[in-house]
Amino acid sequence: MTTKGFTTRLVHADRLLNKPQDGAVHQATTNSVLFEYEDVNDLVDVFQGRKVGHVYSRSSSTSNAALQNMLANIEGGTGALVFSTGMAAISSTLLSLLKAGDHIIMSQYLFGNSASLAETIEDLGIRVCLVDVTDVSEVERAISEETKVVYLETIANPVTQVADLARIGELCQSRGLLYIVDNTMTPSCLFTGSQIKASLLVGSLTKYYGGHGNVLGGFVIDTGIYDWSSYANISDFYKTAPVDQWGVTQVKKKGLRDMGATLSPQSAHMVSVGMETLELRMKKTCENAMVLANFLEQHDKVEKVYYPGLASHPQHDLAQTHFSDFGGILSIDLKPECDCFDFLNALSLIIKATHLGDTRTLALPVAHTIFYENGPEKRAQMGINDNMIRFSIGIENSEDLIYDLTQALEKV
Ligand SMILES: *Cc1c(COP(=O)(O)O)cnc(C)c1O
Repeated sequence: MTTKGFTTRLVHADRLLNKPQDGAVHQATTNSVLFEYEDVNDLVDVFQGRKVGHVYSRSSSTSNAALQNMLANIEGGTGALVFSTGMAAISSTLLSLLKAGDHIIMSQYLFGNSASLAETIEDLGIRVCLVDVTDVSEVERAISEETKVVYLETIANPVTQVADLARIGELCQSRGLLYIVDNTMTPSCLFTGSQIKASLLVGSLTKYYGGHGNVLGGFVIDTGIYDWSSYANISDFYKTAPVDQWGVTQVKKKGLRDMGATLSPQSAHMVSVGMETLELRMKKTCENAMVLANFLEQHDKVEKVYYPGLASHPQHDLAQTHFSDFGGILSIDLKPECDCFDFLNALSLIIKATHLGDTRTLALPVAHTIFYENGPEKRAQMGINDNMIRFSIGIENSEDLIYDLTQALEKV
């Protein structure tokens, strides 16, 4: 199966991996919270990890297992878990694998809510160090005795900085550090986690995977690269599993089971249907983003365009090495004399909304919204200007997007 193309594998994954009953091409949605065992010995074996099965759908169900199989399969990974949201996946993973006294190195260009989560885990006694991940030497310099994890995002939002992914992966491998990569911006059809030696991929199913703005979800995928026998925080209890399952088992027990942010089976079905067109949508999204980036870079009311596909982007070469295309996030600074609120209010097709990875093109003044809480100092450190607008490019016909941008720019 692994030799077939990305979309072929995905649209046939439920049939071939999960084998739903009666020849159905979709896994049935699990409506039961509990699972009956005729022989109590089997129930006990499942509880104690000697047999695979479901006991209570907070921890696992047929629907969610089917989606987890699809995610692990498209990454060639050793296991996956799904959660109610991307933030649930990220917080459950970090809280399951870190302890007070540990040190984590994180990107200084994190998604706003992840940056805020970093402050929460710091309050719990985990030391957090934020570094510029476009440069591996910054990460290397931050490593200390207590460092357990390096955490970053493939393409940052909204300034689109690209992390030095492969060199940081090599560094993590040589130091035995767990390398957690949020690949929300570059889903599996654009980027392969194992190629940059990522240990775990985490992120949002709400964005490109689901893709239609109608369902929340999050994921963790183990790429199979990391040797869990060298991770100090695995509870002895979970070491009865094969060593390549230690990490996922601990996140499943401590994160999913104990913290309880389970994806609903109905949502799992919606995400898996959305994923069937992931590659097709990403192709159109990236194509539109490139067209718009070139258009905006020429426009005399635009000061600056941030898009990794442009030759002017500082990490254009890195992006070209790591991704098969450049993603759907594109930001601009308008010329200082142009009012970004006037521009946004003049848009008629492009939607003013937070969210990204939708089929529809969205726009947002970032400094005044998602990064408002961070304050001017932190925003400056992240490269976010007051006049910056972030677009999440959709799959519309590009001429309609150009038309809308042109008429709105005329009005400022
Ligand atoms: C949106 C997003 C998340 C959080 O996902 P939710 O499903 O909204 O909780 C995490 N990381 C990145 C990079 C995101 O863009």
